[in-house]
Amino acid sequence: MSTQQTKTSPPKSKGRKPAKPAAKKGATPGKHVYFFGGGSSDGDASLRNLLGGKGANLAEMAGLGLPVPSGFTISTDVCTYYYDHGKKYPPTLRKEVEQNLAEVEKVAGRKFGDVKNPLLVSVRSGARVSMPGMMDTVLNLGLNDRTIEGLIAMSGSARFAYDSYRRFVQMYGDVVLGMKPESKDESDPFEEIIERKKRQRGVKEDTALTAEDLKDLVGEFKKTILARTGIHFPEDPQEQLWGAISAVFSSWNTDRAIVYRKLNDIPENWGTAVNVQTMVFGNLGEDSGTGVAFTRDPATGENVFYGEFLMNAQGEDVVAGIRTPLEISALRKIDPKSFKQLLDIRAKLEKHYRDMQDVEFTIEAGRLYMLQCRVGKRTGAAAIRIALDMVNEKLIPWKEGLLRVKPEQLSQLLRPTFVAAEKEAAVAIAKGLNAGPGAATGKVAFHADDAEAMAQKGDNVILVRIETSPEDIRGMAAAQGILTARGGMTSHAALVARQMGKVCVAGCDALQIDYRKRTMHVVVGGKTITIKEGQYISIDGSTGEVFEGQIRTEPSEVVRVLVDKTLKPNKAPHYQQYAELMIWADKARRMRVRANADQADQCANAIAFGAEGVGLCRTEHMFFGEGKIEPMREMILADNADERRKALAKLLPLQRKDFQAIFKVMGGRPVTIRLIDPPLHEFLPHDPKGQQEIATQLGIPASRVRERIEALHEFNPMLGFRGCRLGLIYPEITEMQARAIFEGAARAMKSGVQVLPEVMIPLVGHVKELELQSKLVHAVAAAVRAETGIKFKYSVGTMIEIPRGAITAGEIAGVAEFFSFGTNDLTQTTLGVSRDDAGRFLVPYVADLEIYPRDPFESIDQDGVGQLMRWAVDKGRAARSNLKLGICGEHGGDPSSVIFCDQIGLDYVSCSPFRIPIARLAAAHAALQAK
Ligand code: ADP
Ligand code: MG
Ligand code: MG
Repeated sequence: MSTQQTKTSPPKSKGRKPAKPAAKKGATPGKHVYFFGGGSSDGDASLRNLLGGKGANLAEMAGLGLPVPSGFTISTDVCTYYYDHGKKYPPTLRKEVEQNLAEVEKVAGRKFGDVKNPLLVSVRSGARVSMPGMMDTVLNLGLNDRTIEGLIAMSGSARFAYDSYRRFVQMYGDVVLGMKPESKDESDPFEEIIERKKRQRGVKEDTALTAEDLKDLVGEFKKTILARTGIHFPEDPQEQLWGAISAVFSSWNTDRAIVYRKLNDIPENWGTAVNVQTMVFGNLGEDSGTGVAFTRDPATGENVFYGEFLMNAQGEDVVAGIRTPLEISALRKIDPKSFKQLLDIRAKLEKHYRDMQDVEFTIEAGRLYMLQCRVGKRTGAAAIRIALDMVNEKLIPWKEGLLRVKPEQLSQLLRPTFVAAEKEAAVAIAKGLNAGPGAATGKVAFHADDAEAMAQKGDNVILVRIETSPEDIRGMAAAQGILTARGGMTSHAALVARQMGKVCVAGCDALQIDYRKRTMHVVVGGKTITIKEGQYISIDGSTGEVFEGQIRTEPSEVVRVLVDKTLKPNKAPHYQQYAELMIWADKARRMRVRANADQADQCANAIAFGAEGVGLCRTEHMFFGEGKIEPMREMILADNADERRKALAKLLPLQRKDFQAIFKVMGGRPVTIRLIDPPLHEFLPHDPKGQQEIATQLGIPASRVRERIEALHEFNPMLGFRGCRLGLIYPEITEMQARAIFEGAARAMKSGVQVLPEVMIPLVGHVKELELQSKLVHAVAAAVRAETGIKFKYSVGTMIEIPRGAITAGEIAGVAEFFSFGTNDLTQTTLGVSRDDAGRFLVPYVADLEIYPRDPFESIDQDGVGQLMRWAVDKGRAARSNLKLGICGEHGGDPSSVIFCDQIGLDYVSCSPFRIPIARLAAAHAALQAK
C-alpha cells in the first residue's frame, strides 16, 4: 500500500503537479496554518520562527522536490495565542485546518474518517529549535472501529492494520490522555496488557501476536483508558485530531519541556508549532522500514553517510532502542533503490543547507519518504572537522566556518582521556557504542535523582540507565558520563550527551540493569560481575568500552602537544584541526585575550593556549609558597611600621624573583600585577596548634598571636580591611611590592628580556585612594630607575570592582592608565550577594524563580553589572581616550560574557589558561557578529 497511490483510489499527484497554485512564501498576517507537500508549500525554511524547525524544514524539503508526505503546520503564534487566551484558539483556526485537511486529502487521494479509504495522519510538535523527545508524536491518527476496515482493505493485512490501531490507541492514551507513567520505573499500563497477552498466548515477541490478539488489545486498551481516566476513547477522527493538537500545545508546558528549555536557554514565549502529516508506514512488511541518518559522522565529522535503520518498524522504534538497528550501509543490499535515492538526497541537502543534516526517513513498500531534516548535533571534534572540510569544499566561507564551532565545544578537545597504561591494564567488562567522546570515571547511579544528589556531594558520577528519556536530563547534566544498555548512536542518550558535551557509551546490551535493586550484572568469560550503586566504573566514550573500577585520566591531544609537549603536532590530527581553526579565530577577532596566571609555569601554559598577556597576576598566592608564609605572618603580626619593614625586607627578594621569572616567560607581553588584596587574617592559622607554632617560630607569646588574630577578626571580611585599604594604612606593603615588581623588571631587562608591567590597585572606590597609592608606586619606579639606570616601561591602573569605582570612573580615569573590571567582586557588591553564601538561594533564583536568566557569577548580569561596566567605559574613555580596558573576573572565559565585553568596547578579556581557546573563539564570534 502507498498512502499516495492505492488499490482503492486512483493515483494522485506524486509531488510533481502542484495540488494548489504556488503562493508567495512568507508569513501572512492572520494566517495560522501553512500547507506543505504535493509539490507546493506555503512556507519554507526562512519561516522557522513561525512554523518551528520541523515544519519549516518539511516545507523546505517539499519545495526542493523531495518526497515529503503532505501535511500542514499550525504556527507557533497559535501556541502563544492559546496560552494568552486561557487555552482557546483563534476563531478562524478551525476553518483553516478544515481547508488544509481537504488539501491533504486531495494529494493523498484519501479522506479523513472515510470508512473505505481513510486518511491517517501523524500529529507532531516542533519548536523553533529542536527539543529532542520533549514533545510527543501521535501516529496513525484517524483510526477507529470503522476506519480500521478501510485500512485492512487498503493494506491487505489485518495484522498490520490492528498493530497500527493498537499503537495509536496506546499513544493517544499516553500522550493525549496523560496516561504515560511519570517515570521510567513505573510500568506503562498498556505494556502490562501486552505482556499479559503474550503470556496467555505463550509467545515471547510482540511480532508473534496475531491480528486477532492485536484486535483484543485494542479493546482492552480502550477499557483501561476508560477505567483510568473516565474518558471514552474518542471514535470521532475530528475529536482525535483536536485532542492531539491540544496535547501538543499543552506539552510545551510539561516539567520536562521546561527543564530542557532552562538548560538550553530557550525562551518560554517561543511556543511550539503542530504538524499534521499524512502517515506513511514503515511497518508494512519486509520491504518497509524506518531510519535516521546524518549526512556526515556526528562523532568524528568524517565526510561519510552515517545512520541506522530497522526494516518493518514504525516511528521511534530506531531511537527508542527496543531493537538494535542496522548500519545505514546495510540498506544498499536490502533496498538498493531507496539507498541510492537517500545518497542523492544527502548530497542535495548538504548543498542546499550547507551544513551537516540529521534526517528521518521511512520506506513504505519500497518507496522512500523524508519525514524530517534539521542541522545535526555533533561533538566538538566533529564541529571543527566539518567546518574546516566545508570551507575546503567551498560550501561555506571561512568566517562562516568559524561561526559553526561553538566556543564551548572547544572544551571537549581539551578534556582528558584515560592514561593509556592504566587503561591497558584495566579489564573491559562490556562494550557499547562510542556515542560521546572523552573519558570519564565515577560512581554508578541508576536514577537521575541519585546522580544529582551524588554530584551535589562532590562525587563524580556515571549515570547508568537501560535507556534515557527527557526525565533524566537533570541527572545527565550532573553526571560525568552516561552509560545505557539500549539504543543506538541516535538514541536520546547519545543526542543529549553530544549536545551537553558529556562522555557517553550507549547501547551496551551486555549490561543487565536492575533499577529496583540498584545493581547491574554483566557476564565476562562465563563469570557474572555485579556492580552496585556507588561503585566505581570508567567509560571511554571514544571507543565505547566500559571498565570496572577507577582509571586515571590524562590530558587530551591538544594539551599534550601544547602544554606537556609530550606529543608531536604531526602525530596529533585533532590538534592540527584545532590549530587551523584558531588561526582563523585570531584573524577574525578584535579583542585581545589574556590569562589569569600567578606563577611562571601557569604563564607558560597560558602562552601555549594563545594568551597575549597576563590580565591578572594575584600576588597573594606568592606569599603561600615555601619560605614565604613565615615572613608574611611576621609582617602581619608586627606591632609597628619598623617591625613590618623588617619582615617585608625578607619578602622583597622572594617576590622579586617570582616577578622576574614571570617577565621572562611573558617576553615583553603585558603583565597586570594586582597588589595584595585579601584580608590579612587569611594568612594566619585559625587553630590553636597552628597559632602556637607561629608563636614559637617568631619567639613571641602565643597570646599575642591570638590577640592579633582577634583584632583582625571582621564580621564581613568581603567588605572589610582588604584591597587598597591595606596599602593605604600600611604603605610599606605597597612600597615593597612595587619595588619587587620594578627591580624584577629591571633585572629581566638586564638579561635581555622586554617587560611591560601594569601595576593594578585593587578595590578602588574613591579617586583619592588611587591617587595616594599610585603616587607611591610612581615614586618607587623613579627610585628603581635611578638606582639601576634602566628605563623600564610600566603603567599604573585600577580594578573596577565596586560600584563607586564604576560610578566615578571619569574621575578615576584621570589617574588610572587602565581599568580592569573585576566582575566577581563587582557582581557581589552590585547585587549585594556574597558568592560564597549564595548557594541556598541563587540556584532557585535562576532555576525556578527565573530572577536572573543565568547564574550572575557565571555569566555577566548584563542589565545590572553590565550597565555599570558600560557607564565606566564611557566615562573612563571620555576622561582618557587611550584608557586601556579589560576584564579579569571569571566571566572572561564565559562565551556570552566575552561577546558582551566586545560590544561595550573592551580591549581584552582575561581568563584561566584552559579557557583561553574558548575566549579566543568567542571573541572571534563577537567580532563577526558585530559586522
Ligand atoms: P521528534 O520531535 O521526537 O523527533 P517526530 O515528530 O519526528 O518526533 O516523530 C517521531 C517519529 O514518528 C518520526 O521519527 C517518524 O519515524 C515518525 N513519524 C512522524 N510522522 C510520521 C508520518 N507522517 N509517517 C510516518 N512516520 C511518522
Ligand atoms: Mg518524540
Ligand atoms: Mg523527529
